[in-house]
Amino acid sequence: MIWHTLSAEDALKKLASDKSNGLTSDEAEERLNKDGKNEITDSKKESIVKKFLEQFNDYMIIILLIAAAISFVIALYERNNDFIEPIVIISIVFLNALIGTIQEEKAEKSLLALKKMTRPTACVIRNGLPSTVNASDIVCGDIIKLKAGDFVPADARIISCNNLCTDESSLTGESYSILKDANKILKADTPISDMKNMVWSSTAITGGNCTAVVTNTGMDTQVGKIAKAIIESKTPPTPLQVKLESTGKILGTIALIICALVFATGIFKNIPPIEMFMTSVSLAVAAIPEGLPAIVTVMLAIGVQKMAYKNAIVRKLPTVETLGSASVICSDKTGTITQNKMTVTNVFGNENEVISKACLCSNNTDSTERAIIEYANVNHIDIPEYKRVKEIPFNSSTKYMMTVHKYENKYISVVKGAFDILIDKFALSESEHKIHIAKMTEMTNNGLRVISVGYFISSGIPSGIDKPLSFCGLIGLSDPPRPEIFQAIKSCKKAGIKPVMITGDHAGTASAIAKQIGMPCHVITGAELNKMSDSKLCSVVKSTSVFARVTPEHKVRIIKAFQSNGEVVAMTGDGINDAPALKQADIGCAMGITGTDVAKGASDMILTDDNFATIVEAVREGRSIFANIRKSVHFLLSSNIGEILTIFCAIIAGLPSPLNAVQLLWVNLITDSLPAIALGADGNNKDKIMSQKPVRKNKSLFADGLSTTIFLEGILIGTLALTGFCIGYYKFSSYEAGNTMAFCVLSISQLIHTYNVRSDESVFKANIPPNRLLNASLLISISLQIFVVLSPALSKWFCTVSLNTQQWKIVAVLSVIPIAAVEISKFVFSRQKPI
Ligand code: ADP
Ligand code: MG
Repeated sequence: MIWHTLSAEDALKKLASDKSNGLTSDEAEERLNKDGKNEITDSKKESIVKKFLEQFNDYMIIILLIAAAISFVIALYERNNDFIEPIVIISIVFLNALIGTIQEEKAEKSLLALKKMTRPTACVIRNGLPSTVNASDIVCGDIIKLKAGDFVPADARIISCNNLCTDESSLTGESYSILKDANKILKADTPISDMKNMVWSSTAITGGNCTAVVTNTGMDTQVGKIAKAIIESKTPPTPLQVKLESTGKILGTIALIICALVFATGIFKNIPPIEMFMTSVSLAVAAIPEGLPAIVTVMLAIGVQKMAYKNAIVRKLPTVETLGSASVICSDKTGTITQNKMTVTNVFGNENEVISKACLCSNNTDSTERAIIEYANVNHIDIPEYKRVKEIPFNSSTKYMMTVHKYENKYISVVKGAFDILIDKFALSESEHKIHIAKMTEMTNNGLRVISVGYFISSGIPSGIDKPLSFCGLIGLSDPPRPEIFQAIKSCKKAGIKPVMITGDHAGTASAIAKQIGMPCHVITGAELNKMSDSKLCSVVKSTSVFARVTPEHKVRIIKAFQSNGEVVAMTGDGINDAPALKQADIGCAMGITGTDVAKGASDMILTDDNFATIVEAVREGRSIFANIRKSVHFLLSSNIGEILTIFCAIIAGLPSPLNAVQLLWVNLITDSLPAIALGADGNNKDKIMSQKPVRKNKSLFADGLSTTIFLEGILIGTLALTGFCIGYYKFSSYEAGNTMAFCVLSISQLIHTYNVRSDESVFKANIPPNRLLNASLLISISLQIFVVLSPALSKWFCTVSLNTQQWKIVAVLSVIPIAAVEISKFVFSRQKPI
């Protein structure tokens, strides 16, 4: 159907809809069932089977499986009992792949749940009444209402519009404003970009408003048709994941070289090649931290869920990482720092005139206007019923609003807005000027928001403020700070984060509020900013926390200035004009309640409660996640180094291999899976996390001596397992006893070692919440380990022997040594470093 060639009436008829009543809800439901949801479906979703198979897409695993298969065939052929080993190897590899698949599914599910949370809504007319529905429930024939800041939910034919402008760059790639026209009827071959009587799904309304009838939904829309090209097939890896992947590659290569060395040495020492090959490949599989990026995804996803619970919806995964290093939080004042509960407290001028005129020039759309209308109602102030013929909407750049009304045979234009901005438009004598300014200053110094009201009369419809304004008066509105802001500002300061207030309000108001909430109250205004060079601004932002009378364009300059000082900047925003600032900021935070679709679309994170304190909470969570990722990396790498050293040193020293292939894979299975994940979900000392400086943006995961610690702990674990082996081998003169002891010490000491990495402080002193998942996973893993040795059937598979009491005691002592040793080093270290 070529909707642009029809008149609005014909389009409505074709779609069996009604301009003022819309569809009935029954009809809408029927159409929804028939046509399906208004969604761009991602056909590329991977099946579980494919994900499972992808787990084997790792050359070391493939080599291991091939080796196991070969040795299985040989065993069958030779009819000896050696086919147990390959079977167990294959089972363990499968089990590992299963765990990997479950992890990935879980991460994906939680990300999907998030997408649902940010699901857009739209305003439609159903049963003759405007109602808000999920954009996905929109059907053809629905009458939709769109206004500046909205995203268009489906392709639609415009029925009527008012200065409607759209930005269709999401569709055409060309970013300029297009003025629409409802009355045009176009030729069939008109290019999409010239179809002035249509609006397209996923494009943005940048100005004006309209009523339109939906013509196409879901995959039938213009974006739906090109969806294949724009659907992000897979979330790209976050910077941290990229970093970890390269770290993993380096470590993997080192591990491979060592394994090759182990293999060569083993051959040289006359160990049967197949056995040696199996051991070295298993060692490689166990030691290469291939699971790290996946674990990080799970952790980030868990973090995202936690943040959603605390009213911060993260739209992009890397934001979780960036949050941890945020060093400046720039925030709007109204609604974010304050409650956005405005009350008119002062009226200067003739109250009746000021308030009634202000109400004429109101849409009841923001809290300022609501407060004025509320005041009129409470004080029984009549509002004259002049027909409105034109509106210049309020905009945070111009800071005023104007409406034009039919007034007898003429037109009356009412203007309300910031007094100091409009001052030259008012016809005031010098003394009036002085008095009014003094009045305004008095109000702003008390933290009030001040709005001036004026009007002029003309014979024709004016295009703007064409004539001097007659002054009606000033309205002072109070908007108290949010109660939680005081604590949030304190937390920021303690955490080395600079809170910055950016507001369109008057400098006096901003300064008074800043003073109330404990921020430095020196103010820079937009006018001063205009006169400053970028380099001057860079040095000014260091000592400034409050910017007043700024426009959204200034926000971008302020962010850039902070960023060129090396800061990581979070910035809030709600309007369409805020989109560039939200994009420029490292963490763009859109308002969930008052924010426009466009601001949300440009943001990295949405604050569902519009609250400054929520950003601070999100930063805390981001820091916590970074700390946990460090814990997992710390644990995994020190354990893997321990495993490599155990085998490597024994072979070099001319001993038989302390662990066989099956045992190595088993150790890898029980230590690298559950405990590593449990560490990722670990708690942290809330106060301590927020009393450190922000993590520098490009700080290495291994900073602050972590790499040395990891290496030393790896040596320790390796030494303990070897000691276990030697005691069995020499003292009890049994390879099997030594092997079983080394097997137990290696796995149990690693499991106990998890407690070491939970904090830099002693486990007994660190004030961190208990980690039940970790405790449970250790209990399960240690029990499994002991069960493998005790159970006659399993011990046959794992080639272990039963240990006597004395041997078990030795295993126990060796296994707890890591905790004792690390505790001592923490004690010594903390005494060296005065806090
Ligand atoms: P912020 O949201 O940062 O507090 P705004 O840009 O909303 O600042 O407001 C700046 C100034 O514009 C206010 O100080 C006030 O004088 C004026 N103003 C705010 N809202 C309105 C409105 N709805 N109509 C007219 N003027 C307004
Ligand atoms: Mg505002």
